[in-house]
Amino acid sequence: MSNYAEMVQSARETFYSGKTRPMDFRIKQIKQLRKMIEENKSDFSGALSTDLRRTKFENYVLELDFTINECTHMLRHIKEWAAPERPSKTWVNIFDDVVIHKEPYGVVLVMGAWNYPLQLTLAPVVGAIAAGNCVIIKPSEVASAVAKLIADLVPKYLDNECYKVVYGGVPETTELLKQKFDYIFYTGSTTVGRIVREASNKYLTPVTLELGGKSPTYIDNTADVPITAKRLVWGKFINAGQTCIAPDYVLCTKEVQDKIIEECKRVIKEYYGEDPKQSPDLCRIITTKHFQRLAAFLSNGEVAIGGRTDPGEKYIEPTFLINVKPTDPIMQEEIFGPILPFINVNNAYEAIKFINEREKPLVLYAFSKDSAVQNLFISQTQSGAVCINDTILQYSVDTLPFGGVGMSGMGAYHGKLSYDTFVHPKGCLLRTFNFIGEFVGSSRYPPYSETKLKF
Ligand code: NAD
Repeated sequence: MSNYAEMVQSARETFYSGKTRPMDFRIKQIKQLRKMIEENKSDFSGALSTDLRRTKFENYVLELDFTINECTHMLRHIKEWAAPERPSKTWVNIFDDVVIHKEPYGVVLVMGAWNYPLQLTLAPVVGAIAAGNCVIIKPSEVASAVAKLIADLVPKYLDNECYKVVYGGVPETTELLKQKFDYIFYTGSTTVGRIVREASNKYLTPVTLELGGKSPTYIDNTADVPITAKRLVWGKFINAGQTCIAPDYVLCTKEVQDKIIEECKRVIKEYYGEDPKQSPDLCRIITTKHFQRLAAFLSNGEVAIGGRTDPGEKYIEPTFLINVKPTDPIMQEEIFGPILPFINVNNAYEAIKFINEREKPLVLYAFSKDSAVQNLFISQTQSGAVCINDTILQYSVDTLPFGGVGMSGMGAYHGKLSYDTFVHPKGCLLRTFNFIGEFVGSSRYPPYSETKLKF
């Protein structure tokens, strides 16, 4: 294990040297990060496939191109976002300069998760660099091929004094979290999110926690069944359901359930063939431990589609479960795999009650043509985000905040928020010794009198 105290201290000294402050330096580093991904696309895609047996298409679209776009979007806007803001002021400050300076925090720790190991680690790093911080990057050891590649390549492309990678697991992270950081950006489970928050308390370090949870999906009888099925199956089974914003369970009537399941059977065949196990487009579960946790859920309720597994390959067939009870184990924790349980409700109000009785999810999906129902879900529930009549795509809109609420997280990023997350908005009042300004403000000085109270 490296000496993390020394590592953080040297990053802090570099930060105070002012090296990360000039705009040209930050722009150069983001360009270098983009170049690192562009020049090593095939190695990154290979590593992602080693970790998740993921197809090249998903590797490119969901990770490589996504992260490259984050860099490009940041480069396009960085000067505008970094510019000091001049908020409105009253006559009292008429001779003063009222400015909000965007101040980098200092040394930032970014911890990524294994399920999208490239973009979840590097997209926040783009914001942290853009804002002028030094960054300690901690990829998830669970996706070890990608983590090793990041550890290998970052020193070759980015400034070594400002940006450092820690490769390691729980003991390394535990040691790392004992250090004093100026900001921590964590992506992963709620359980570890708590550990990170507790560690951050020691120095009152601000944190962003991008966590998980059970994202519900409501479908009513006005929804277009073929399109709903296509979007639901895609959103649930990309990355074999190991997606923090995957639909976790479906709420609908028994009638809607029957129609959706019939159509989803057809769509699964269309996407993955007669035997999904043979499809190159279906990922595997990341580790045997994760596979075993998921396989145990298959005895909950009744299998309506799929249900087969192959422990040797860590394969779980795209599976729909019906007659699931809210008290079943699968409904007690985030599924994070290719299993979709259905719970029957009679209407939107019952669905909303069901959702509101549980922890606030990361995303809420609702399929309905009825705008009153759509608005009901937006206004009567709480979640990190809402997506009506589709799945996952809200994530790709870079002007929308991405983040959870309550147990699904705190803070948000993407686009401008990726920049704003990593700066402290420092309020600055710049006064002069102007005689009139001094006269206007002089009523604040003692001795106080009734007349002065009127000003
Ligand atoms: P993980 O096991 O890769 O852990 C994430 C990070 O926490 C890693 O860097 C790991 O080293 C560290 N870590 C793990 N155990 C630790 C411990 N005991 N002490 C200190 N550090 C520790 O990922 P995970 O937690 O299995 O990720 C899956 C979860 O993440 C799911 O709940 C998913 O919903 C959530 N997630 C959220 C988002 C989001 O953006 N909101 C994205 C992806 C995943």
